[in-house]
Amino acid sequence: MTQPFWETKSLAEMSQAEWESLCDGCGRCCLYILHNEETGDVFETDVGCTLFDAKKRRCRDYENRLTRVSDCVQLTPENAKTLSWMPDSCAYRRLANGKTLPDWHPLITGDPASVERAGIAVSPDLISEDDIDDALLESRITKTR
Ligand code: SF4
Ligand code: SF4
Repeated sequence: MTQPFWETKSLAEMSQAEWESLCDGCGRCCLYILHNEETGDVFETDVGCTLFDAKKRRCRDYENRLTRVSDCVQLTPENAKTLSWMPDSCAYRRLANGKTLPDWHPLITGDPASVERAGIAVSPDLISEDDIDDALLESRITKTR
């Protein structure tokens, strides 16, 4: 049995298609995140980026996201290891840190819905950052990352 590409290649060695297939579509990198500067803690909210379509768990303008949203970050093999605000479940972060894919990952199950069943996907009922005052963001914290 041949080993899957994510076990034999580094992130930098993967083709574009392989790289894209690592994304499980959870949507958690498109949530509004709060940082505690003193402790370094990172908090996840149930507030989505202005371009995030929570029902489809997709960016509404993926091609132009980096110019339209100033703090949207392009993931690369180089920064995947250091973006500490990314969720632990994210395949890019996991592989960059020497871990393998979790058993619920669609590349292993063959089923994109396994992300929802594992409780990793964001809720379709997120609110948009456009619809909330900045002063209320702390009240939307759902978990610590
Ligand atoms: S957190 Fe990682 S796996 Fe989830 S949508 Fe973002 S890039 Fe894809
Ligand atoms: S611009 Fe798009 S890809 Fe970037 S955080 Fe917002 S929804 Fe996600």
